[in-house]
Amino acid sequence: MRIAMAAPEMAPLAKVGGLGDVLGALPAALEKLGHEVSVVLPFYRQVAQNETVPIRPTVHVVTVPIGTRKVWARVHRATLPDSGVEVYLIDCPEYYDRPEIYGTGGRDYKDNAERFVFLCRAAVELWRLLELSPDVIHVHDWPTGLIPVYVAEMYRPRYGCFDRTVTVLTIHNLAYQGQFWHWDMVLTGLDWQLFHWQKLEFQGHLNFLKAAIVYADGITTVSRTYAREILTPEYGHGLDAVLRSRADRLWGIINGVDYRIWNPATDPHIPCRYGPETVREGKRACKAALQQELGLEVRADRPLIAQIGRLDPQKGWDLVQSVAEQLLERGVQYVALGTGQTQYEQWLRALACEHPGQVAALIRFDEPMAHRIEAGADMFLMPSRFEPCGLNQLYSLKYGTVPIVRAVGGLADTVTDTTDETLANGTATGFVFREYEPEALLAAVDRALRCYRDAACWWQIVRNGMIQDWSWERTAREYERVYEELRRVRADQATVVSTET
Ligand code: ADP
Repeated sequence: MRIAMAAPEMAPLAKVGGLGDVLGALPAALEKLGHEVSVVLPFYRQVAQNETVPIRPTVHVVTVPIGTRKVWARVHRATLPDSGVEVYLIDCPEYYDRPEIYGTGGRDYKDNAERFVFLCRAAVELWRLLELSPDVIHVHDWPTGLIPVYVAEMYRPRYGCFDRTVTVLTIHNLAYQGQFWHWDMVLTGLDWQLFHWQKLEFQGHLNFLKAAIVYADGITTVSRTYAREILTPEYGHGLDAVLRSRADRLWGIINGVDYRIWNPATDPHIPCRYGPETVREGKRACKAALQQELGLEVRADRPLIAQIGRLDPQKGWDLVQSVAEQLLERGVQYVALGTGQTQYEQWLRALACEHPGQVAALIRFDEPMAHRIEAGADMFLMPSRFEPCGLNQLYSLKYGTVPIVRAVGGLADTVTDTTDETLANGTATGFVFREYEPEALLAAVDRALRCYRDAACWWQIVRNGMIQDWSWERTAREYERVYEELRRVRADQATVVSTET
């Protein structure tokens, strides 16, 4: 199949969170299965400044009407490392030559509607210009959400292109919907008739993600449990009813891990490499080096608990905040790496000041440090309110860092709680709690700490996690099945239409 993707992030060129990791791996995994995959991405300042992936110019220029203006962009090209995946980079400095991808200081850029309307239409325009005729157009999250609308409402009827193409939306996080002032409709060039409750409008606003949910032929999200959860008011972020109306075309496909990047046996960022057979010595060395680097007491017997992620309420920081003192009274060390909301940054900094040698707060984005923490910590905490998939618990499993997670979304699908039964049958990989309550979190940590003091039990859990396989190949096959199913449905519909006429 010829698969054309569009996305707002793609590692290693531009990454804010898990979406970037997915785009850095899924296209190459699909290519390995024999498909031709390309990706459209904005030419952000980070992309221009990156030193790992060479950028090549092309002769192409795309011109897109934005409201009453015509905006144009040069198109550059890059090839995803270790693959043949082509990346088309939309170079429009007025939108993308900025310090960050979505905004600074926790605030979105005010013209995000315009920046991503442009991306959507430029992507479709480019595919037309290149005469790409993709079998599948696969878009990711709200910034590319208008693409299925442009395909169905503008490019198919107006230019007769994309006739055989199916469109797929992947929802990486339903909380981010791209909801804007209704007058931003003017920027899209789409007919105002589409601005109604069954199409682009949501509660009086233009909603990019809702538009994609309505228009895409198929919808996927990044775990089975999250696919069920988002159909409920509790986790639906207001869009549960719209999603329920498309439930027959909704699939949950768990993300994979790029083991070329996240593997303690080959990781260039960690001081000592190890695998399941050498995990004890390997982790001992990595832990001592991490404690030293972070200014923590260098003691092998102190359990070191880690947390990495956006400083956002989604990730359960307030829950940790409410039990932090009780946790520290248990003699554990704690390291947090993250950036985001000021209130959490201040709290973490203060906690580190009050507990020197026991707490380290790293308020920055630091990928190599994320690797060293994964290798050096004993336990990894993810008490999320909701979690579409979550990648850090999967990295933790591979690094022998036992995850302590709340049973939501992808966390519920990837971590098996430790019980007598799961210990006996070799499936225990972590500690899971249900309620979003301080007591529930503490009880899970206490269970983990009891187990930590029983070496035989602990290293069994560590090994169970390390030998699991969450590679992309399996995930890519599931996407392949979804694409094929949607193409079959489309072909059937075309047959029905042609026999009727
Ligand atoms: P989300 O996509 O909701 O942010 P995920 O767990 O799916 O969460 O993915 C987060 C990704 O971003 C992981 O690769 C994680 O290591 C990385 N990450 C998040 N914050 C930081 C940070 N401050 N420094 C380094 N890496 C980070």
